[in-house]
Amino acid sequence: ELHNKILELKGNIRVFCRCRPLNFEEIGEGTSMAIDFESAKDGELTVKLNGNSKKTFKFDAVFSPKVDQADVFEETSSIVASVLDGYNVCIFAYGQTGTGKTYTMEGTEGARGVNYRTLEELFNIIETRKNIYSYKVSVSVFEVYNEQIRDLLIESQPGAPTKRLDIKQSGLGMHHVPGLVEANVTHVNEVWEVLRSGSSGRAVGSTNANEHSSRSHCLHCVMINGENLLNGESTRSKLWLVDLAGSERLAKSEVQGERLRETQNINKSLSALGDVISALSTKSAHIPFRNSKLTHLLQDSLGGDSKTLMFVQISPNENDLSETICSLNFASRVR
Ligand code: ADP
Ligand code: MG
Repeated sequence: ELHNKILELKGNIRVFCRCRPLNFEEIGEGTSMAIDFESAKDGELTVKLNGNSKKTFKFDAVFSPKVDQADVFEETSSIVASVLDGYNVCIFAYGQTGTGKTYTMEGTEGARGVNYRTLEELFNIIETRKNIYSYKVSVSVFEVYNEQIRDLLIESQPGAPTKRLDIKQSGLGMHHVPGLVEANVTHVNEVWEVLRSGSSGRAVGSTNANEHSSRSHCLHCVMINGENLLNGESTRSKLWLVDLAGSERLAKSEVQGERLRETQNINKSLSALGDVISALSTKSAHIPFRNSKLTHLLQDSLGGDSKTLMFVQISPNENDLSETICSLNFASRVR
């Protein structure tokens, strides 16, 4: 209740910035940090530019490299209850490849991320409400690569045929993808398994799994149907958990042929997402949802009553400074 009030007061779009730690290689090389965490105040991130100048960016929260998965989720969790009250929610991870998008969303077996923790929290709340509400939860996992949709739950099964999937709009204006596998999840025990088979589907059919995953958007759609057992009223909502393609720009000389098309599609969909969120935050009359598959898919879950949370992931390495500035500028535009 209280959490939802806070969300409403602050508006429906929230931006968190998370910085990964320096890795062993960077520490070994004596890499300098481009981020000044010493002077950090609540929600402020200070970047050391070349020379002595600094630039400060404001966010709803800033997570330094020391902040762990549980603490990140602590700040995120208030959004989860609103899904069970019938609101649509989108959580994104945006940023350059290697900055921790997948770490934040998927995490590791020992340090589970937002995807798992969100579902775990959903099931905890469902348990506390079980005398009044009955909920059905299902999960789809798919990727958008080169403006094409691929079902990752099917792909994780050996020998499964690749289906061409597309977006359809139902009479009620809901967008859905007919044919997509929807895995019913009845207990939190089943969650990690479903998430894992989704991520194994991501690697199928690609020669370089890491490279492929940095060039595609990975989406989890959690569908929740609720029924009030006392009065029979029902709610339907969707929770989207999205690990976006890497936002880095590539040098012109590097990109040709297939790679060029990939890059153009990534740029198109990430800038379409930025355009949509910034149009929503300025309450613009026209919201350009149809400019990419990504925004088209999310159309009924962005804007209106929906709540959006964007993690902007950055690197502390001063060699990544120009990409870091690009990501922070993107974040400032959507906030
Ligand atoms: P991306 O998905 O943005 O390409 P990854 O999530 O794969 O980036 O992260 C790159 C590497 O950095 C991985 O080895 C990951 O485990 C590690 N990493 C990222 N963020 C953190 C963090 N906050 N704490 C510890 N390790 C992290
Ligand atoms: Mg990744």
